[in-house]
Amino acid sequence: MRVVVLTGAGISAESGVPTFRDAEGLWHGHRVEEVATPEAYARQPALVHRFYDQRRAALASVEPNDAHRALARLEGELGGDLLLITQNIDDLHERGGSQRVLHMHGRLRSALCGGCARRFDWTGALGDRPPCPHCGRRELRPDVVWFGELPYDMDRIHGALGTADLFVSIGTSGAVHPAAGFVLYAAAQGARTVELNLEPSVGSRLFDETRHGPATHLVPAWVDELLR
Ligand code: NAD
Repeated sequence: MRVVVLTGAGISAESGVPTFRDAEGLWHGHRVEEVATPEAYARQPALVHRFYDQRRAALASVEPNDAHRALARLEGELGGDLLLITQNIDDLHERGGSQRVLHMHGRLRSALCGGCARRFDWTGALGDRPPCPHCGRRELRPDVVWFGELPYDMDRIHGALGTADLFVSIGTSGAVHPAAGFVLYAAAQGARTVELNLEPSVGSRLFDETRHGPATHLVPAWVDELLR
């Protein structure tokens, strides 16, 4: 059985990483448009750097939870028949044991050079404008996909959705495209679809099955059922 799992901010909420939809479109007190668009970065680069530098530093004080670990267990059983796609920019799936994760919206612990377009693993700050390790220009930005930019790995994602038997969406509001459309695409290609979320998402009615509650309860129970 081929399984595609899509995760969003809700899977990391119980690890202490705030989502943003739940707080009325605010992300740590900022409107999304202030910190997550190319226009915001062009207008106020210092503010945007400070925001992501704080988010990156905060990763040091959070830990993966049982939902992340359950998906790592699923990977251990299904191997290449599982594709885990996350909209999250944190690294909790990897620290929970998942080895193959597609970060369609990029990663906090990565920097992208505006000069040479190379990407580098990055754990420090970017606000002090360090030079690019390759070209030396001081144009490193957070390697995250902002609103209005193209997500990573879309060809691979569409390929996997097209051959999936099961598509499962976990902890995502269904408000951000293109991820919000994956359920329809997978269903049209014949996959069964399941939503695991704290509450009904924007697109809940599009799923064959919905289960509502905290991810740390729902996800381990769903993995147990699938592997039974
Ligand atoms: P979102 O904030 O829009 O929605 C979160 C969803 O998770 C909501 O539907 C909410 O009901 C649900 N939820 C909250 N707590 C939950 C829990 N304990 N168990 C299960 N579900 C829970 O998140 P999204 O849909 O991923 O929004 C997309 C954007 O937010 C992404 O682009 C992502 O990059 C960005 N983001 C990422 C992080 C992160 O990396 N952890 C955090 C905040 C925002």
